[in-house]
Amino acid sequence: MEYDPPINNDSDEDIAMPDDMPDEYYQGIRKEGRIRRIVVDKQACIGAMSCTVVAPLAFQMDEEDIAYVPEGHDATDEETLLLGAQSCPVLAIHLYDKDGNKVFPEE
Ligand code: SF4
Repeated sequence: MEYDPPINNDSDEDIAMPDDMPDEYYQGIRKEGRIRRIVVDKQACIGAMSCTVVAPLAFQMDEEDIAYVPEGHDATDEETLLLGAQSCPVLAIHLYDKDGNKVFPEE
């Protein structure tokens, strides 16, 4: 059976909101580690699916072929998460730390 967890709706009250969030996004919030917020820019995603191949527990595709961050995403270690973000050909995945600073892509 295909792994198809629901789109999660993590609360982000404890971490700073970045000031460069995309207009439309999916996100996942991590409780520990350097990377605390995973964001997929829905308008940038072209459905290439490389993120879901590299980090399948952190990224899944929705009905419109846009990557989202499913429940259970925090089972993915930071290195795999970073590799998943780096695999995106259009850099639609943004990773932030607790203070809202961008971890990836570097600016
Ligand atoms: S790799 Fe990038 S473009 Fe492809 S599905 Fe993931 S977020 Fe979207």
